[in-house]
Amino acid sequence: MGGLARAVTPGGPGTLAHAVGPLAVFGINDSSLSLAVSLVILFLVVVWLALVYWTYADARRRVADPMLIGCATAASLFPYVGTVIYMIVRPPEYLDDVHERELEMQAAEARLAQAGFQLCPHCDRETREDYLRCPHCLRKLKDPCPNCAKPLEPNWRICPFCEHEIVPLTAAARRPRRRRESAPEPTS
Ligand SMILES: [Zn+2]
Ligand SMILES: [Zn+2]
Repeated sequence: MGGLARAVTPGGPGTLAHAVGPLAVFGINDSSLSLAVSLVILFLVVVWLALVYWTYADARRRVADPMLIGCATAASLFPYVGTVIYMIVRPPEYLDDVHERELEMQAAEARLAQAGFQLCPHCDRETREDYLRCPHCLRKLKDPCPNCAKPLEPNWRICPFCEHEIVPLTAAARRPRRRRESAPEPTS
């Protein structure tokens, strides 16, 4: 109680300011400054570690190869610059997005096939499944049935529309034309 009474008395504050002033200046010069520097360093280290983790997590979502994920994480151990370089060279898309887009394309192709459309194997443009020739690149897509002229797939061995047997071209050239229908040759 006696100390507080002395500090409040006139003349007391003057001596108190005189005593605290040099102490504060001394503190800023030494312990406060070193504390601030320590805090900044701590902050930078925390941000660096967070960047390393972020690089690892981001690489896992964009890169399938575990080896490359390891390389990206190792590069990010180089403070800040490693992560910046990773951000420049990283794949632009997430693996999930790539997968989703592939599924969408497959679904779109399936829809086209269901509607009777398909893509030309030569020029990848739209044709119909009953086209004999691609209207865009003019290449042959299918052969017509020799009996009913419906389009046939190259690997079909019989026409599904008229049951005409498809004889392979090379074999057909070798065999006589009406061999199947002809009766056995008279022996005499
Ligand atoms: Zn074509
Ligand atoms: Zn036919």
